[in-house]
Amino acid sequence: DPRIEGIASSIRVVPNFPKPGIMFQDITTLLLDPKAFKNTVDLFVERYTGKDITVVAGIEARGFIFGPPIALAIGAKFIPLRKPRKLPGEVISEEYVLEYGTDCLQMHIGAVQPGDRALVVDDLIATGGTLCAAIKLLERAGAEVVECACVIELPELKGRERLNGKPLYILVESR
Ligand code: IMP
Repeated sequence: DPRIEGIASSIRVVPNFPKPGIMFQDITTLLLDPKAFKNTVDLFVERYTGKDITVVAGIEARGFIFGPPIALAIGAKFIPLRKPRKLPGEVISEEYVLEYGTDCLQMHIGAVQPGDRALVVDDLIATGGTLCAAIKLLERAGAEVVECACVIELPELKGRERLNGKPLYILVESR
């Protein structure tokens, strides 16, 4: 698709952020380019229109940027998957392992119902641990995870192999 190139070139790579050796993929420059931002949302909306997706789950924090416009356009509800102690209601939690230590995602109980068909959205997949935790949360609540969607994949980290066979759709690969 000719729109992909403009999206890829709008993403800034910041070396040594947040620590030495990391090449940080920065989507804030994509957001500064209205055409690239619109094309990003449009590509996802085109893919998920007519697929009976009932819920778009966005992962804190950058899944909160791309998820809601997709949800609005396809007529699905949006639910935030948040870091601990941010959601005020009753939650279920899923811990996952990081390079150093663990992290956790939480979801409000009652946000999804059995039979919901879910799309999980984030900006980037690296090791896949975050998306794996998101899939588990949604499935524990009875939803069917139809697909995961990210703007960027770091394919060398083989994160898609950790998604328990769930399909992953990405727009840009980065090394
Ligand atoms: P994973 O769990 O290892 O797949 O890491 C993915 C999570 O870390 C996502 O929520 C991303 O937003 C974040 N992340 C990791 N590396 C980057 C990056 O280079 N740019 C932006 N976000 C990143």
